[in-house]
Amino acid sequence: MDEAKSRKGKVVIVSGPSGVGKSTICKEVVKRLNNVDLSVSVTTRPRSEREVDGDDYWFISEEEFQERIDKGLLLEYAEVFGHLYGTPKVKVDELLQRGRTVILEIDVQGAKQAKAIFPDALMIFILPPSAKTLAERMNHRGREGAEAAEERLDGAGAEIAAAWQYYEHMVINEDLQQAMNECVQIIKSVEGES
Ligand code: 5GP
Repeated sequence: MDEAKSRKGKVVIVSGPSGVGKSTICKEVVKRLNNVDLSVSVTTRPRSEREVDGDDYWFISEEEFQERIDKGLLLEYAEVFGHLYGTPKVKVDELLQRGRTVILEIDVQGAKQAKAIFPDALMIFILPPSAKTLAERMNHRGREGAEAAEERLDGAGAEIAAAWQYYEHMVINEDLQQAMNECVQIIKSVEGES
């Protein structure tokens, strides 16, 4: 693909079950590494009180999301827990053209689509130390209601099982600092290759 040939930057895909701490880790990586940016996804999920439009996500309607699909503006997209999530293509391409490393924090379905487009993408999966810890963290976060939290916990098992076959790096988030350090090191090592 011509597009892939002319690309200069690297793509890093980060996935993991809901509540595992992916966002915190990714934001810290961006702070620590000068050449790394985090792609901001579009979603039809309602914004929670703590989230900022254009920072955590671009919160859009289903009609707007469909329009972006129809116009080919999304690099990948998937339905996750009843809502649509997608990666804006133009922004990612622009960052890659400038030689930036771009983190896509996306689910396993989206990761497979993105890996097909960027075969040399680095794949990192963040694991909780145990199912119990994940449940506790999700309850503590309190962002979703009990039913939605349960659905997300149920989904975590299948996602983790798929990840073992698919992701080259599995990082256990038992200690947040350590997990951040590990991700920084992994990403630094690919940056060093270019
Ligand atoms: P949350 O609602 O907890 O922010 O995200 C739910 C799930 O959607 C997480 O697994 C997250 O990684 C995933 N997700 C977020 N943005 C995207 C995206 O642009 N594409 C895909 N495929 N998944 C996404």
